[in-house]
Amino acid sequence: MERMIRHDLHVHLYGCLSPEDIWDLGRDLWRDRRGRLDAFAQRYQAAFGVDPNYESYWMDDSGAANLAQDFLCTTPSSFEQFESKFALPIALFPVSHARDDLRVLRRVMERHRDEGLVHVEYRFVYPPVTPLTAGYSLKEHLDGLCRGMAEFEAESSGVFEPRLALSLSRDPGLGMEQYLSIKSWQEASSPVLKRHLTGIDFSGYEETSDARDIRDICATLHSDNSKVPRDALALLIHAGETTESGSVADGIRRVEIAARMGAHRIGHAVALGADCDDETRAVQSRVRRWIADETKSVIECCITSNIALAGVRDVLAHPVRGFVADGLRVVLATDDPGIFATDAKLEFEKAIEVLGEVEAFRILGSASNYHSAVLSGRV
Ligand SMILES: [Zn+2]
Repeated sequence: MERMIRHDLHVHLYGCLSPEDIWDLGRDLWRDRRGRLDAFAQRYQAAFGVDPNYESYWMDDSGAANLAQDFLCTTPSSFEQFESKFALPIALFPVSHARDDLRVLRRVMERHRDEGLVHVEYRFVYPPVTPLTAGYSLKEHLDGLCRGMAEFEAESSGVFEPRLALSLSRDPGLGMEQYLSIKSWQEASSPVLKRHLTGIDFSGYEETSDARDIRDICATLHSDNSKVPRDALALLIHAGETTESGSVADGIRRVEIAARMGAHRIGHAVALGADCDDETRAVQSRVRRWIADETKSVIECCITSNIALAGVRDVLAHPVRGFVADGLRVVLATDDPGIFATDAKLEFEKAIEVLGEVEAFRILGSASNYHSAVLSGRV
């Protein structure tokens, strides 16, 4: 069975770090990051009402266990609480000239290769503007990440294929600026380097922005993809994941808009199968069939993540069963395996629980058709 589990198409790079990884990679540098760790502690305190006492992670005998307890997200949590946990590796390993991110990348790729995965698509931030990143350019960022991936792929004799999707702002002006900078980088970069960047992603909390805000970016991407297919980028949009402040109907609308904008893959789309009233259920069913029949969008199902963050009651209540029954194209993914204490094998076992072996294996078998480079028309 393990040899069949080869793809993970939806992970966030820092969310792949286990508590042990964070402890180990952080032990030599946490003292230099106190200012950022204080900001993490404040955020954590605001979300949970407790001070995480990060110093204890590396000062106390039980520090690694304390870190794990604070970092793991294995019970239902709000998005704010989840983000406050994610803030720990962000505080420790800032995007900067020091390139802590490249140490993180290598650690995570080694883990995935050891697990037997052969194709993993990592989502990672567009370089944020902070005091630490003065003079740090997109070119430095992408050159480093893509070179790290190219070297690792070569070391793995080509059996492990790491790929990158940059996560862009949902703010239409800033997002477009970032997208255009990526296209300029592609134009100026060698084929060997740029082949590793295969997508752009829109993630983070989705309920505070209008899903249509990014439509110009999406239209430009599709136009660019058809003009220069060798540089085509997949459009990956998280949509319909949480319905914390809005309704299930709002979540369905965001998924529908993502599909209308030509999202190659949609992250989660839990709203398409969430508990709701009869009227909303009829809309769910219509949108599901429409996406299945009239679009090419693929839904990324992350069962453990959805139980922790998206209000799914348990494995058997996950909407993937309804998705498959309605003919939606789906892939299984782990999202943030380090925080959710999962991996691709565990996700597959959960998929068997909810779908049965035949359907679960069929989904595994189709994953290679849904790589970003395939969906975007690059190959
Ligand atoms: Zn995600």
